[in-house]
Amino acid sequence: MLVFSGLSHAQSIDWCATPDSTTSTNYPQSTDPAYFDTQPPKLYNVVFRPIYGQEGYFDETGQSFVSEEDALIATANLNREFNQFNIFFKYRGVEPIINQDFVYVSLGVNNDYLDCPPSNYGDYSSFTVSNAISNHLNIYIPLNGCGFSGSYSPDNSIATVRYPRLKEYHLLHEIGHIFGLGHAWSGYTNTGQDSDGTWRCERVTRDVTQLDEYNADRKGDDVKDTAAIPKFNRPHNGLNNNVNANCVYVGIGEDCGMSLYNIPPDEKGTLNFMSNGSECPTSGLDPGKTGFSIGQGVRMRGKINDPALATFFAAFEESDFSSLYQPYRGEYAEVYYPYSSIERPLFQPGFDYKFVKCYGDYPQPSNYNEAFNYDGQQVIKDIDKFESDFSAIYHPDGTAVRIVQLDNVIGLNPQSCFNTDWFATKGLTKRFHDNQVNNNYTITIKDEQEISDPNLIDDLAPGLYVIEKEYEDGSIEQTVILKDNE
Ligand SMILES: [Zn+2]
Repeated sequence: MLVFSGLSHAQSIDWCATPDSTTSTNYPQSTDPAYFDTQPPKLYNVVFRPIYGQEGYFDETGQSFVSEEDALIATANLNREFNQFNIFFKYRGVEPIINQDFVYVSLGVNNDYLDCPPSNYGDYSSFTVSNAISNHLNIYIPLNGCGFSGSYSPDNSIATVRYPRLKEYHLLHEIGHIFGLGHAWSGYTNTGQDSDGTWRCERVTRDVTQLDEYNADRKGDDVKDTAAIPKFNRPHNGLNNNVNANCVYVGIGEDCGMSLYNIPPDEKGTLNFMSNGSECPTSGLDPGKTGFSIGQGVRMRGKINDPALATFFAAFEESDFSSLYQPYRGEYAEVYYPYSSIERPLFQPGFDYKFVKCYGDYPQPSNYNEAFNYDGQQVIKDIDKFESDFSAIYHPDGTAVRIVQLDNVIGLNPQSCFNTDWFATKGLTKRFHDNQVNNNYTITIKDEQEISDPNLIDDLAPGLYVIEKEYEDGSIEQTVILKDNE
């Protein structure tokens, strides 16, 4: 259940409706990226739930919202940020839900937008729980939120992000909550108390030998590598605590022990998804940056590993990774004619894909973990995890796919060989009589039947050969064979 006591302070349009936690959980603390090598990979299903006022009518201007592309971008953001912790997300589609009462969701305070209804958050919260699709992380998306940008439901795999913030860091923030993260500013006002009666306030120092001051591992957000920070968009101690447009902290606030804040412009400070960087609109999402610290990743794995929550996480987990090799749209076909309505199979963006040459008759394509022949060096198409042309992320004929982010999960082997024109149309063998590649050779031309003969190599006399196969598309494959005397 969402607690309302923390909401009356809402002042920012980018406010997260989740109150600061006041109980600490003793999850592991580490700042070593190698920690994740010990953590089994996890794959979670995510489904997007835009709330429409009525069927076929999306908002009062007739504009649709939450396109498939929007949802794919949001899923890609999740993967690009969580994969470093061995956490993965499978895009399971956009499933709109019709309810005109919750196109706009309001906390009843700070109604920043036109058409904000009176407070309806309590009813909305119940609505999201009763309409959630089981076995999925449900991302509800009202057209707008009044007084807040996002929230999550702690006992359910449910998050809400208002539509204007779906593709920004706010979604990462709410999913961070689901995986156990608190606000980086938690307790900064020195008002919250832990169960032992001590102040929640996190001190600035990161020097563990300062025994009387150091508390970063157990106060604030309970993550020791995130900086102690205030809420950036509020005055604190009567002083300005803002960050500027470049996400550099320019405030002069102090922690509860009167130490000046020392906040770096990176994932441990102003760019952190769990800080309140409304002044940093691309907070942490730019290529080469992240908005989660290693310590936060370790805490998330701690929550995943919490035995008390095993059932909660298992409910929306996929036990194997085969689904990531299944297209979210399109179909496998023998031939794709120009202007045909048959769409090529499309893979979700946010991963690095290598489509490598594979062999054999697999028009369907091959099943997950099925063995086939491939050439890992022959990369037919390379897709970057920041690829923004999603139509380019299709499965080319004659290739199998390797997802680079899964190298440590399933190994380097590609999956899903899709190959329709596997028959060589002609070919030849070239025998080198000196058992070295020189000009002393004999060529034997092979027709379609001979070059595809499965006994071709077995029937060769001992010696050094090059076998050349030419395929329908004109591509030529050369294989060097050294046949020993046996
Ligand atoms: Zn929050």
